Amino acid sequence: MYSLYLHIPFCSHRCAYCDFNTYAHQEDSIPAYVQALMREIHFVGERTPPDAIVHTVFVGGGTPSLLSGSQFDSILRALRAAFKFSSAPEISIEANPGTISREKLDALRRAGVNRISFGVQSANTEELRMLEREHDFLDVIEAVGDARKAGFDNLNLDIIYGLPEQALSTWQTTVGRIVDLHPEHISAYALTLEHGTPFGRWANKGLLPLPNPDLAADMYEWACDFLAQENYQQYEISNWAKPEKQCRHNVQYWRSKPYIAFGAGAHGYVNGMRYSNVLRIKTYIERLSGFSADKYQFPRSPAIVNAREQTMREEMSDYMLNNLRLTETGVSGSDFRSRFGCGVAEVYPEEIAELIRDDLLEKMTSDNSEVIRLTKRGRLLGNQVFMRFVDG
Ligand code: SF4
Repeated sequence: MYSLYLHIPFCSHRCAYCDFNTYAHQEDSIPAYVQALMREIHFVGERTPPDAIVHTVFVGGGTPSLLSGSQFDSILRALRAAFKFSSAPEISIEANPGTISREKLDALRRAGVNRISFGVQSANTEELRMLEREHDFLDVIEAVGDARKAGFDNLNLDIIYGLPEQALSTWQTTVGRIVDLHPEHISAYALTLEHGTPFGRWANKGLLPLPNPDLAADMYEWACDFLAQENYQQYEISNWAKPEKQCRHNVQYWRSKPYIAFGAGAHGYVNGMRYSNVLRIKTYIERLSGFSADKYQFPRSPAIVNAREQTMREEMSDYMLNNLRLTETGVSGSDFRSRFGCGVAEVYPEEIAELIRDDLLEKMTSDNSEVIRLTKRGRLLGNQVFMRFVDG
């Protein structure tokens, strides 16, 4: 089963903490970009093995909700023409509250989109202002209400904790207000100060009070307990869902299964090869305009600028880093063996023994297979665990 990721690199404003491949004030390029995207979809689809079935699509950004309903319709038609889909695929888009009207939501639903992930980030006006987000919480309430009226029964709300000068109480209010909206899925990520962003530069100059790691850990632990009480099951370090509402697309990543990339700056993983497309919108459009088709083999397209076949050891390392993020199901011993032909404890004997001894990993049995997963302490100290499996 394959997944497809489509990147829409447009935003009406560039937020100070963001390091995604996205550009503000380039909306004039959207029509040409959508045409280029459809050419890439057609091109890769023609070269995809005939037995490949697509079961998830994720349109991320950027702000995909800047595209019109008819542009989405064209893109989804192009996907359906180019690929074979499973009977009930998950088709998600990311949207910013405040950039999506009831009419557009109706159009998305008609086009076949069945899951929306709203970038909420906070319910607190000051925090939203500090993040330079353009919406307020009333926009969120309205967007969720409109999405429900349009027939969406699978919504994710994204929130961020560990903001500079954020109080535990404002975080608790945000989580409570999010739960009051009854989303099927919640993602809560810690703020990271990325190099090259205004937030990163201000922090380096001492102009931005760094998030306090202890307080951020308290926020995370509080959210884990609170969301469990509210019947959200944590299935990944930063993700919670109602039953059967895990994000199938992201689980594909965490299970180290294949996904094909489309659009400027999109990353893909197919047949043990990790690859990425050219970053700039203009170059992406140019590359998809005139090219010699013969030199590209699945999954390559003229947009690719980096591609690397992974060694077996790198594949194993990625597999551990991805699967350990899944807090319930972790690394399955039988899956590891069927994929790599050897046992996980044979490849990482010392790492696993030491991390179990330090109460960061635990072993258990599920469906007659041994599972290795993070402990509660390990979820807080995930990076310490992951470092042990980084190749080289
Ligand atoms: S809206 Fe999202 S993708 Fe766009 S700049 Fe802000 S954080 Fe980045």
